[in-house]
Amino acid sequence: MGLDVTWAVKWLTLSAQAMAEHRVELIELDRAIGDSDHGENMDRGFQAVLDKLAESPPETPGAALKLTAMALMSKVGGAAGPLYGTAFLRAATTLGDAAYVDAPALAAALAAARDGIVARGKAESGDKTMVDAWTPAADAAAAAAADGDTLAVLIAAAEAAEAGAVATDPLVARKGRASYLGERSAGHRDPGAASSALILRAAAGAAA
Ligand code: ADP
Ligand code: MG
Ligand code: MG
Repeated sequence: MGLDVTWAVKWLTLSAQAMAEHRVELIELDRAIGDSDHGENMDRGFQAVLDKLAESPPETPGAALKLTAMALMSKVGGAAGPLYGTAFLRAATTLGDAAYVDAPALAAALAAARDGIVARGKAESGDKTMVDAWTPAADAAAAAAADGDTLAVLIAAAEAAEAGAVATDPLVARKGRASYLGERSAGHRDPGAASSALILRAAAGAAA
C-alpha cells in the first residue's frame, strides 16, 4: 500500500492553493532579486494544473505528476517552468504506472526530481536556487525512508526544503537572473526555493 492518486490530486490542489495564497510574497521575493514574476508564473501554472486535473482525471500518481509537468512546462515560462516541468516529469517516470507509492518510491521520486532540476539548470548546492530546497529535501526523504512511512518521508522533505529555502537568504546567487546582481543578491530569499518549499509542504499536507 502507500499513497494513491487521491493523495497526488490533493497534493496538486494544495500546491495550487499555496501558490495563490503566496502569490504576492513570491512576487516580492522575485522583485528583490529578479523580475517580479515568480508568484504570477507559479499561480498561473498551478491553475493550469487544476484545469487539466478536472479535464482528464488521472488514474495513478505517476499520471497526475506527468500531467502536472506538461501544464507547468507550457504555462509557467521563464526559468522555473522548464525546471519544475523536468522535476515533475522525472518524478512521474520514476513512479511509472504504480497505483501506490511507498516510502522508498517517494524518496526515489524526490531524488529524481532534484536530479532533473540539476541536469536542466546546472546549478550546484549553494548557488541560491531551488536546488537549495530540493537537495536537502531529497536527502532527508532518503534518510526518513529507511525506517519511516510515507508521511514521515514527506514531513522530513518539507522541513528540509523550508530550512534550505531560509538558508538561501545570505547566499550570493550564481545561477539565474539573480546572479546578475552579484553580491547585491545576498540578504534575500530565493523565490524558487521558497515556492519549492511550499510545494513540498503541500505534499506532506495531502498525506496527513
Ligand atoms: P525568471 O527568472 O525567468 O523570471 P522565475 O522568476 O519564474 O523565472 O523563477 C526564478 C527561479 O528559478 C529562481 O528563484 C531560482 O530558484 C530558479 N532558477 C533560475 N535559474 C536556475 C538554475 N539554473 N538552476 C536551478 N534553479 C534556477
Ligand atoms: Mg522571475
Ligand atoms: Mg521572468
